[in-house]
Amino acid sequence: MTSYDYDLITIGAGSGGVRASRMAAGTGARVAVIESLRTGGTCVMRGCVPKKLLVYGSHFAHDFEDSLGFGWQQAKPDFHWTKLIDAKNKELDRLEGIYHTLLKNAGVEELMGKGKLVGRHEVEVNGRILSAETILIATGGWPTLPEIPGIEHAVTSNEALDLPTLPKRIAIVGGGYIAVEFAGIFNALGSEVHEIIRAEKVLRGFDDAMRTGLQEELIKKGIQIHNGVNVTRIEATEAGAFTLGFDVGAPLQVDLVMYATGRAPNTQGIGLETAGVATNGKGAIAVDGFSKTNIDNIYAIGDVTDRINLTPVALAEGMAFVDTVYRNTPTAADRENVASAVFSQPPIATVGLTEHEAVAQGPIDVYESSFTNMKHSLSGRDEKSIMKLIVDQKTDRVLGCHMLGSDSPEIIQGIAIAVKCGATKAQFDATIGIHPTAAEEFVTMRQKRV
Ligand code: NDP
Repeated sequence: MTSYDYDLITIGAGSGGVRASRMAAGTGARVAVIESLRTGGTCVMRGCVPKKLLVYGSHFAHDFEDSLGFGWQQAKPDFHWTKLIDAKNKELDRLEGIYHTLLKNAGVEELMGKGKLVGRHEVEVNGRILSAETILIATGGWPTLPEIPGIEHAVTSNEALDLPTLPKRIAIVGGGYIAVEFAGIFNALGSEVHEIIRAEKVLRGFDDAMRTGLQEELIKKGIQIHNGVNVTRIEATEAGAFTLGFDVGAPLQVDLVMYATGRAPNTQGIGLETAGVATNGKGAIAVDGFSKTNIDNIYAIGDVTDRINLTPVALAEGMAFVDTVYRNTPTAADRENVASAVFSQPPIATVGLTEHEAVAQGPIDVYESSFTNMKHSLSGRDEKSIMKLIVDQKTDRVLGCHMLGSDSPEIIQGIAIAVKCGATKAQFDATIGIHPTAAEEFVTMRQKRV
């Protein structure tokens, strides 16, 4: 029998890699996890967590404005960017410590360095070659930038989370999750924000009503959306600013250029070719339903496989991998009706099919409601919430549920359980609402949209 140094080596200590490593160790496997940056990975160190802390921090600006309608006076305290960044960094240090402890307590050995496959069972790290019966690749993704002149002047979300000062004027290129979330942060904190999108509307792939509704809200908040344009060049000015040139329209001058034009799987320099691991046409590691690559003992989970690039999905894939390999229960992660949220201001949350997707599958009824949140009857804020239910005409099942508005991520998480359970519109209607809330609208929509 061949003896290996470990039962499992995981390359990448992000959400998926840490979860899989810990759970595998819990079954008695000897596990090592290799990380080249910070334990916790994109979500905890460079993504979801620091971003959400900045969303919280920036949203106070809207709360102070809103409070005036409720009798508060002169509610505009000073804001210090560096204090927010310092507090955020302190929290990330704390979380990283927790991750180290979780791994240690689970008996997982952490190795800092870049892991590289040098064989089907061998991984090189810091000049040492270690062997394992099974290898799990969980190296995540990294921002991608188009090749245009001057692109070296642009930052990505990685740097935007750690800027030394708050930019007076910022151009954010892209209209996806990251772009609209950062547009909201910088806008609320007082920057002049220009969002540059090549499409007509932000958030391609989301339900059209949410896309239109969010775009209108962003504009009302003062975010300048330049749609239907492409950036052709970026030039640094002598005064330390940057000029963006477009394929149509006049150039734009800003103090910071941020690109949020998508992310690519982290597959470079990890030895995929040496081990013979195949990638798909988009450069992601190709896997089967059980996250197994074309090599029998090598698996891959999370963003490096470019399936649904969300932390909770990577966690589910990590758990399914452990069930499959260490618990003798082949399990495919369930990717149906995965809820997600965009932490724009206001946020969007969604589960199930968009109207566009549902129509393609058969006849549907649509229930849609647009209203002003009760809070804004006194705050005076001109902000619309939108809710939408998409119902299968034949089965009465709710196929999709979408919301733009305050607290939508918190509301949709609960609704996602009902959708996952196959709830019908009649069951939504039979549910008694909680009054007065925005959420109750989901159980009181009776009028089909014509
Ligand atoms: P997305 O894929 O969501 O959006 C990319 C955006 O960039 C689109 O608007 C796209 O435009 C635009 N774009 C792409 N290439 C170019 C180009 N060459 N020039 C101009 N615009 C371009 O990517 P993100 O970077 O925002 O996020 C990456 C992934 O991270 C998401 O898909 C998501 O899975 C995950 N994520 C999830 C979050 C959450 O759950 N809250 C938060 C942040 C990230 P077009 O529409 O025209 O193609």
